Amino acid sequence: MKYGMLVNYGLCIGCQSCEISCVKEKNLPEGEWGIKVEQIGPEKLGGKWEWDYVPVPSSLCDLCEERMRQGKQPSCQLHCLAKVIEVLPLDEMSKRMQEISDHKVACYLP
Ligand code: SF4
Ligand code: SF4
Repeated sequence: MKYGMLVNYGLCIGCQSCEISCVKEKNLPEGEWGIKVEQIGPEKLGGKWEWDYVPVPSSLCDLCEERMRQGKQPSCQLHCLAKVIEVLPLDEMSKRMQEISDHKVACYLP
């Protein structure tokens, strides 16, 4: 089964727990990241402040293939208390995106 990562970044507070949990899970050397939280803003657009944090997986992300095989959640998903990250089968992705369509959502495919 093929999986992808859905990121409901409208809920992200930029705490970086996903980054750290991935580095620990993958035992990555300093300076390498499986996922990185990008900051956009703050800037005022149309009289309203826009300020987002957007977690973006890198080429080192394998969607926690080994953990998934063991029936565990991906490490970043498990440690995100805001429930921003969901690794889902591709055929469930569009339905889930529709359910949360009032938020800012990004979708990453392997
Ligand atoms: S995705 Fe979750 S764990 Fe990562 S920075 Fe955002 S709130 Fe924190
Ligand atoms: S799914 Fe696994 S490998 Fe990918 S960013 Fe999350 S913790 Fe890292």
